[in-house]
Amino acid sequence: MNRRVAGALAAWATLMVVAVAAVAAVNFVRARNSFEAEARTLHRVVSQRADQHDAHLTSLAAVLASPERSFTTFRAVADAVLRFYPRIAAIDAVSLVPVPDVVFTTRELQSNRPGILELAATATTLSAGQTIVMTDPNGAAAYHLVKRLPETISQAGALVMTIDAGRLMDPEADLSAGMWFALRDPSGREVAHRGQSPSPDGVLPLLAFEKELGSRSQPLLLQISRSPAVSELLPPIAIVLLAALTGIGVILASFVLRERRAAREARERASFHEHQARLAHAMRVNTVGEMASGIAHELTQPLTAILSRSQAGLRLARSSSPDRGEIIDVLDANVRLAKRAGDILSRLRAYVSNSGPAPERTSLNRLVRNVAELVQGDLARRGIVLKLDLDPRDPSSMIDRVSIEQVVHNLVRNAADAIEPLPEDRRTITVATFVEGGLAGVAVSDRGPGIPPADLPRLFEPFFTTKPDGMGLGLSLCERLVEAFGGRIVAANVPEGGAVFIIHLPLIAEGRREAAE
Ligand code: ADP
Repeated sequence: MNRRVAGALAAWATLMVVAVAAVAAVNFVRARNSFEAEARTLHRVVSQRADQHDAHLTSLAAVLASPERSFTTFRAVADAVLRFYPRIAAIDAVSLVPVPDVVFTTRELQSNRPGILELAATATTLSAGQTIVMTDPNGAAAYHLVKRLPETISQAGALVMTIDAGRLMDPEADLSAGMWFALRDPSGREVAHRGQSPSPDGVLPLLAFEKELGSRSQPLLLQISRSPAVSELLPPIAIVLLAALTGIGVILASFVLRERRAAREARERASFHEHQARLAHAMRVNTVGEMASGIAHELTQPLTAILSRSQAGLRLARSSSPDRGEIIDVLDANVRLAKRAGDILSRLRAYVSNSGPAPERTSLNRLVRNVAELVQGDLARRGIVLKLDLDPRDPSSMIDRVSIEQVVHNLVRNAADAIEPLPEDRRTITVATFVEGGLAGVAVSDRGPGIPPADLPRLFEPFFTTKPDGMGLGLSLCERLVEAFGGRIVAANVPEGGAVFIIHLPLIAEGRREAAE
């Protein structure tokens, strides 16, 4: 897997994690809000149901307080209450004097009579009309409301209402799926519940609600909780959508980034090429300065010849019987010499010119001859012989002539620097052209000291030099100029002593050359 794909995948995974976390957080807040709203509604409903018990007790007490004190009416009311409110399990009327005794009950069997009497006995501590909630003495899932009857009733007494706590709420109708509830009486005993209390599974937090009922007589504690499902917080559809959206986002972002990187690289390449062209130009100007004395020497020869021939021509013209033919010969020679001087200067001007590289079909033999013309004077002054060994097949390549002339020129200058201090018989440089393995080539060899093997791999590195005043940029520039036209340059030592630098360039095939001509 390449680095770019791995990076995009990592970015996508990170985005997914963040997006999934955000969706889960939003859904959790939504689930909590709806749970709390539902729990508050339930609390209100259950509180209202509890309040109804007080109302029933009050009406039952009122029946007993009536002058007739009719148990028939009492039974009718109590039966109606029981019929309409299945959660009210039983209603007992208990006289407290001389000892607690059930005087009326709605129970079929009076099996828990002692328990009811015990509960009723607590009413003796209550003030008239007061109601309290009592835990079931037998541990049933119920609680009891004990109301002390008002003193207006001739005989002191109490009413006991038994509530089936589990029916205070209809789990099917009142509770949403996954909800758990419990009711605890004031002693903390659980009097009703549904299912197993969910416990937090460590990943998702538990939604919980806990509040006492609003009824003054029945301060039962209502507990509701729910454990949100993973699929509720992270619906599969949302995950698929997120994966698709983040995937598209990452693909778009990597596309934009790639475009920007490509644009930046193109800018850098352009500025590198401009920089390289400037460097090449600066170095050419610099070497022309060094060559100045050689060039002056080169020009002196045709100029001196022009001068002496012109003087001779003048003499001929001034003679009493001027020979027209001889004068024409002299002028002819002058024209040739002046052209040669002009050629030297135009080659120099072309070499120093700063026009950008323009590849064109170039004869390597001509290119080498041009360089030879330029450096000949300088080399002669330093007692160095330049030999040309040009391939008669005249190899050509698609290159910028000035750039590759500069390369050959650099190689000749380096060779000259290497052999200058040596005895005369070794002060020879050979520039050869050749065709080899389908490539065109130029080789510059000398009989100098050669290159220490340790230096060979570093030769083309920028700033590598062994010369006290060297810059070490010549060979690295040569390499770049050659590579710009699809070529290569290598250095080696020759067995007889000395170094050779070989340039390989794409060869223009014979057929193409003919077509171009
Ligand atoms: P500079 O000429 O400024 O040193 P170059 O990059 O042209 O920079 O050359 C780098 C080094 O390569 C030279 O300092 C020299 O040590 C070595 N070198 C180049 N040509 C030759 C050669 N013909 N013979 C021996 N050493 C050479």
